[in-house]
Order: sequence, then structure tokens, then C-alpha cells
Amino acid sequence: MPIDPELARRLIEAVNIGFDQQIRFLADLTRLPSLRGEEASAQDVMARAYAQRGLDVDRWRIDVERLRHLPGFSPVAVSYDNAYNVVGAYRAPGAQGGPRGRSLILNGHIDVVPTGPLEMWSTPPFVPVIRHGWMYGRGAGDMKAGLVANLFALDAVTRAGLIPTGDIYLQSVIEEECTGNGALACLERGYRGDAAIIPEPMAEELLSAQVGVVWFQVKVRGRPTHVAVAGTGANAIEACYPIMQALHRLEHRWNEQGHPAFHSHEHPINFVVSRIEGGDWTSSVPAWCTFDMRISLFPGMSLETVRSEVEACIAQAAADDPYLGKHPPQVVYHGFMAEGWELPGGTEAQAVLASCHDAITGKPLATVASTGTTDARFFGLYAGIPALVYGPKAESIHGFDERVEIESIRRVTQTIALFIAQWCGTIEA
Ligand code: ZN
Repeated sequence: MPIDPELARRLIEAVNIGFDQQIRFLADLTRLPSLRGEEASAQDVMARAYAQRGLDVDRWRIDVERLRHLPGFSPVAVSYDNAYNVVGAYRAPGAQGGPRGRSLILNGHIDVVPTGPLEMWSTPPFVPVIRHGWMYGRGAGDMKAGLVANLFALDAVTRAGLIPTGDIYLQSVIEEECTGNGALACLERGYRGDAAIIPEPMAEELLSAQVGVVWFQVKVRGRPTHVAVAGTGANAIEACYPIMQALHRLEHRWNEQGHPAFHSHEHPINFVVSRIEGGDWTSSVPAWCTFDMRISLFPGMSLETVRSEVEACIAQAAADDPYLGKHPPQVVYHGFMAEGWELPGGTEAQAVLASCHDAITGKPLATVASTGTTDARFFGLYAGIPALVYGPKAESIHGFDERVEIESIRRVTQTIALFIAQWCGTIEA
């Protein structure tokens, strides 16, 4: 797919002209702590930015009841009273009889994960700063830089004097970090495209496959007694250890089975005990304990099989314990119920991205499989839309001192701008 060097030059220049403004906008957005349930004000900023550009803005509250029956739905344990998605739709002039190009979804998520202890950050997570070419801040890399790159890539196309001839949907979704129900809600609302780009922090590589992810809680009940007669009680916290160990043995088995898309990963399947609560009093044998676990699964494994293997594993571990055998723990699914996904090879969308990436960076586009999940699965598995997960370079996402490389944001924005022009087609303004 040859790229017209003059077109590339115009778009590179157009991105450069808007780049300072783009980085300021990213800093302003990173300043808003769009943690789960608190995304609305950041979504308002996105809605305003879409409206200022003359896009048709659709801002709606996600209704769980409309999603519950759909494939890809993940169970929800929190209120969606404040759960808003925003889409800005660009409608090509072809609607009035001009040429019609291919349509495109430019998707990103606004939600960010919790910061952890603030004293572990070098600078406060919601006070973005730029040091040595990197912007620091929670969510700056994952993935506000990509979300903003989508917006400014479309700006650059316009600034270059080009009018896209395909429809473009800018999507700012929530819930990517816990369920994916934000992206699912966009599908349910009818948004479709001939391709989708998701600029997650991929270090300018293309995602070729991702694991599935399931969240669950194990709730263990014990028998409280005074610690002086601990032997007559049943310690709910300590009873969790063998269950955790049994789950890690299941993790080991799945890693042994392996998957062709993850050959280059030594340990693609990760089961993580990520949260724990239990007990009430230091001198009482604890009567209760709940631990959260995030597990992953290979593409092609069915969620039904995964659930039954997990539940059997927990039930077996409990049966080996004299007290738990009679009082088995409860398993509650409270988030991700996500299948794995692989990008189908040989699509034209991938070929176009590869040539745009090459034109901007001078390098061939590398692909990489991820041991995490993204919203790509919704487009790919449930709507037949090729989803290109490709974005800037970030470090320490979900950790302390999360950061994103500024020049990488510039190149990704240029690549997306060029992709818009190549994929949708353009006419001169
Ligand atoms: Zn992300």
C-alpha cells in the first residue's frame, strides 16, 4: 500500500502544529482522576472537545439491563448511576451524495486504575509533569495519551486541508479496566466501523493476540472463637492459603499447555491474588475472609470451561479441609468475564497501518502478544471489525510513576492521521 510522501509530509506538519496544544490537553485530562465511578467530569471534557470540533456528540449513561444478555458482558458489582460513555461522530460529506470511503472507529478508554500509596510516587499522580521527555501521571499512558491522539489525529487531517470521505467515530469509553462494558455499550448502541484503532500504550507495536481475563472473589467463612482456644475455631484467613495454592497449581497447568500465539512468553497465564479482607479483631479467630483473584486464559478457551475448572479447583481444595469441607467457600464473579482474542492475519486494515507506521517511523511494524486484555475483543469477537491496538510508549502503567514518552505520542498521532487519510480516503477542502 504505497503512501504518497506529500500526503505524509502534510500530515506530519499538521500534527506538529497542534502538538503543544495536544500535550496541554493531555495534561488537563490527566489532572482529572477518572477512577472507576468518577469518570463523568473527564467524559464532559471529551464531550466538549468533540462538540467544539463540530462532531455529533452522543453522551449516554450505560444501562446494565441492555447489556446483560449480550456476549462479552461482564458482571457488575457497582452502581452505574454515574457511568457515561461519549462518542463523537464525524459524518462524511458522502452522505450528501459525494464519494464514500471506509468508516473508522477511533476508540480509547478514560478510566484509570487506583494509584496505590501516594508516598510511593515521586510526584503526585494527578499532577502531571514532564521530565526528560516523559509525562508522568496516573492514566497518562494508560491510556489518555492514546485517547487524545485519536482526537488530535483527526484535527491534523482537517488542519492539513483534507476532508475524510468515510464516517469516523471517536469513542471515549469507561470500564475498560474492570469489565469492558463501556466498549460493549458502544456496540449495543449500534456503532460499527470497517476498522477500529485503539491506541493503548503498545510502544508503537501492533497487538496480535491477548489473553482473556476473569475476576472472581472467594468468600470463606470460619468459626470465631477466642484465640485462647483457637483449636476449637476455624480460621477463615488461614483457610485461604491452600485454596490459593491450589489455584496456582491450575495456573501452572494452563501455562504448561501453552498457546501458539504466546510462544515468546515464558509465563503468559498469570493468576494473581490482588486483594484480601478478613477478620475483625486481633484476639479473635477470624470468622470470615474474602480474597480477589484475577486470572487469565488463552484465546480459544471457553469461559464456561474456565469457570468450571476454577470452581472445581476451589471445591477440591476446600474438601481437603475438615471445616471447609462442610462449609465450602462461595465464588462470586464481580468483573471481567473476558475471552481471549487474536487479530486475524492478512487484513487490509493491518496492511494500511503497517505502511502508515513505516512512512512515519521508517521501520516495519512489529507485532506483539499481550498477557493483558483490551477492548479489542469486542470489535473482533462480537462485531467482526478488525481492531488495531497500536499506541505510544508508556512505562509503569498500573504502577508508581506511570509515564508516557512525548515523542512517541507525536509519532503515533501522525501515524493515526495518515491512517485516517489512507483508510477513509479524503478530498481537498
Ligand atoms: Zn488501557
